[in-house]
Amino acid sequence: MSPAEEAASILTELGVDADGGDLVSSSPIDGSEIGRVSTGDPAAATEVAAEAFLQWRTIPAPRRGELVRLLGEELRAAKEPLAKLVTLEGGKIVQEGLGEVQEMIDICDFAVGLSRQLYGLTIASERPDHRMMEQWHPLGPVLIISAFNFPVAVWAWNAALALVCGNPVIWKPSEKTPLTAEAVAALMKRALKRFGDAPDGLVQLVQGGREIGEQLVDDSRIALVSATGSTAMGRAVGPRVARRFGRALLELGGNNAMIVCPSADLALAERAILFSAAGTAGQRCTTLRRLIVHESVAEQLVARLKQLFANVKVGDPREPDTLVGPLIDESAFDGMKRVLGDRIERIEAVSGGYYVRPALVEAEAQAGAVLQETFAPILYVLRYRDFGEALRLNNEVPHGLSSAIFTNNLREAERFLSATGSDCGIANVNIGPSGAEIGGAFGGEKETGGGRESGSDSWRAYMRRQTNTVNYGTDLPLAQGIRFDIAP
Ligand code: NAD
Repeated sequence: MSPAEEAASILTELGVDADGGDLVSSSPIDGSEIGRVSTGDPAAATEVAAEAFLQWRTIPAPRRGELVRLLGEELRAAKEPLAKLVTLEGGKIVQEGLGEVQEMIDICDFAVGLSRQLYGLTIASERPDHRMMEQWHPLGPVLIISAFNFPVAVWAWNAALALVCGNPVIWKPSEKTPLTAEAVAALMKRALKRFGDAPDGLVQLVQGGREIGEQLVDDSRIALVSATGSTAMGRAVGPRVARRFGRALLELGGNNAMIVCPSADLALAERAILFSAAGTAGQRCTTLRRLIVHESVAEQLVARLKQLFANVKVGDPREPDTLVGPLIDESAFDGMKRVLGDRIERIEAVSGGYYVRPALVEAEAQAGAVLQETFAPILYVLRYRDFGEALRLNNEVPHGLSSAIFTNNLREAERFLSATGSDCGIANVNIGPSGAEIGGAFGGEKETGGGRESGSDSWRAYMRRQTNTVNYGTDLPLAQGIRFDIAP
């Protein structure tokens, strides 16, 4: 079946009508059109969301969790077709498409539990007969802007938390992956129907490109803008939100490194390197882009990696033995070509698609393109002599998302994780930098934007903190012992 036929059959199965509109979805598998959708109306969406907030914030959080539980059920039932659609529209291999939907299910489970654990603190008051506490209240409509490379999971990370926290959500997906968004919206609609009494406009989808995104970003009725994409996008969105004193959660690009030490288990490291550098055709924010190898093991490791890179199966992502699917489009190919020039190896896997062999490049120094995120499978290899140099190289890039070390030396591992070690939001030992679990807070520092979403206490970004002091006494002592006596 052609990608268009397959997409049409999945969309029918999921109850999506994507036959019209001016936004074209193309499959990276062969470049063919697989559907069209209409662009949305940002102002209308925010108006309805603001209205929905007034009601949703009054629903007890565990009941809000029930909606997310139902969404999790719908996702479980539709896991395969939705994953296939991710493959058709995003180009991920089937295993990774399934993994992406599983991530959605996992965050739903997490959020359901969280809906009974939105804990505040009680705080010791310095005044007699006073009590202090902290409460977390719903925040307001949340805008989710997502990137093409995680076309459905990023929405779920945000939406599941935002909903249990009492907020309506508006989703502006990537203009490159509108069909998967429509499919998720259809599943959400089923969950809402089963839930029963959710307000209209609680969960909305607004399709479109950058201009539609900007209109939403500028709307002061949006309390939180959670934006995932390139650093260039964050550089545009962050100041716009700040100008109106809105809240922004930015999840931007990465230029992630792995240090391989002399004591490393090289067989383990090789597998981790191949998955994190070549998987998703190098199009993950956490993709491994820089390998910092100790000179004593570099020769051996590089020789082995050359073999692995030369033999990894690049091709149609629907085939079970393919490990590397296509780049998303021609502009991604051009970006890779700008860096590699004639060294780029295009593979004629399926006519119309942009398939490339992952590239291993031995870099003399960490400079030029090595410092940047090229969103394609290019792995630079740098050699180091002493551990301090390896750490410096790890940190010496503008981004600060993910990092990893392979070592069996406890001192090196602990140093890497310490305050003087990796400066990234994610630092791993003996696993690669990509493929995070939803239980941890996800995000990074510096030009990665500083936001955290998904697990741990990331939910706090989606709520409004309120500090309360209650006086149950008969006197009115002031804080810091200030005297402000009124003459009798
Ligand atoms: P992109 O920046 O081109 O687009 C991302 C989204 O932002 C799209 O929905 C786009 O329409 C929207 N957008 C772009 N400019 C905008 C503006 N001025 N105002 C409002 N919205 C705007 O990114 P992409 O090519 O889709 O995705 C790849 C990038 O995303 C890479 O840099 C990757 O590292 C990053 N990414 C980061 C994470 C993370 O969690 N840190 C996750 C996935 C992807």
